[in-house]
Amino acid sequence: MRCSRCAAAVPADSLDVECPACDGLLELVASLPSKRGDTLRELFATRRGAIDGPDASGVWRYREMLAACADDIVSFPEGNTPLVSAGTAAHWAGCLTLRVKHEGLNPTGSFKDRGMTVGVTHARRLRARAVACASTGNTAASLAAYAARAGIPALVFIPAGKVAMGKLAQALAYGARTLLVRGDFDACLSLARKAARELGVYLVNSINPYRLEGQKTIVLEMLEQCGWHAPDWIALPAGNLGNTAAFGMALVAAHACGLIGRIPRLLAVQADGAAPFAHAFDSGFTSLRPVTPNTVATAINIGDPASYDRAVRSIRETNGVVTSVRDEDILDAKAAIDAAGLGCEPASAASVAGVRRMVRDGIIAPDDDVVCVLTGHLLKDPDIVVRFHEHAREDREAANPPRPIDPTIDEVKRALDRR
Ligand SMILES: *Cc1c(COP(=O)(O)O)cnc(C)c1O
Ligand SMILES: [Zn+2]
Repeated sequence: MRCSRCAAAVPADSLDVECPACDGLLELVASLPSKRGDTLRELFATRRGAIDGPDASGVWRYREMLAACADDIVSFPEGNTPLVSAGTAAHWAGCLTLRVKHEGLNPTGSFKDRGMTVGVTHARRLRARAVACASTGNTAASLAAYAARAGIPALVFIPAGKVAMGKLAQALAYGARTLLVRGDFDACLSLARKAARELGVYLVNSINPYRLEGQKTIVLEMLEQCGWHAPDWIALPAGNLGNTAAFGMALVAAHACGLIGRIPRLLAVQADGAAPFAHAFDSGFTSLRPVTPNTVATAINIGDPASYDRAVRSIRETNGVVTSVRDEDILDAKAAIDAAGLGCEPASAASVAGVRRMVRDGIIAPDDDVVCVLTGHLLKDPDIVVRFHEHAREDREAANPPRPIDPTIDEVKRALDRR
């Protein structure tokens, strides 16, 4: 590993995920695979549909592109998520066609599983006494499951009162030691970093470079599903910026290996209430000003993103754009995605809300080929769904309220006839 700030070398079998000299983030140093273009594409194609082993995983199938060892893996398997039409949600976004890559269909319901299989496999290889993460919920759920599979104790730091019900339930159920920290996500992350430094537990946050290796495969699998024809745009929600960083790394590598002929543009979308990356983009990335985050999209409620530097690189290398959207727009986008039969958690819908904004601003053309990444499953945050549908908002009636009835056929008939 190499420090991204001072370039110090750190052995790959170290428990450190930060530079011991300067606290900078570490990067894995790896060379591109010797195979290229068609040879690589055919290799990946022959593995598709494998019933077990590393090839059955939508992460480890692409192992030539990952700086991680694929022996003795902790795998569910994960990935293998569908790339499908957004259906009626395309119209909502103002696109002629729109596709979504549904990462909510991973084993624990979010893309975090892709990084976790790599991170926990590495933790087991290092014989870590415990693994830990700070989390807005999904990382905790994923770590709890993979640590249980690996037989390693898990410690998760969650901001008290700011985590969606489904995620908290998962962390408890999978047996993680769940600490509800009085503070926000950023406070959780600095505490987890301290625990890693002082107590020797292995940190599997998105600052962990092995996590990012796994997350690169969201893009690799998507490109394969596109027949290796790169779309014009890939839109994703942006919080701690691990995914934004990983996507850029994957796209640059896929292009360098001849897997794709051109690099799609990234659209990273934040919530207005937690948009330090979007503000930095607007000022030409001259500086990052952390904010006190406040958005309903808990998975991107982050004010001081850890992977900022490498995410800036991703946006630059992909000629990307960073924008932000209001909470109302996120919830409306979510309702459109849900009503299309796809379903996702609030943060995921930021991608589609961001595309709508970019179409309106004339940055994305209605006939551009756009793929939105849906990062998490609908059932992660059931409270917000029920609230949205049961209650009216200033600008509208209750969306789809459940209706109590007497057990008579007349009541059923009335429901059937209602427009
Ligand atoms: C973690 C997460 C995000 C944010 O991803 P970053 O890599 O932190 O930017 C977005 N959506 C969901 C559902 C997540 O779990
Ligand atoms: Zn350093």
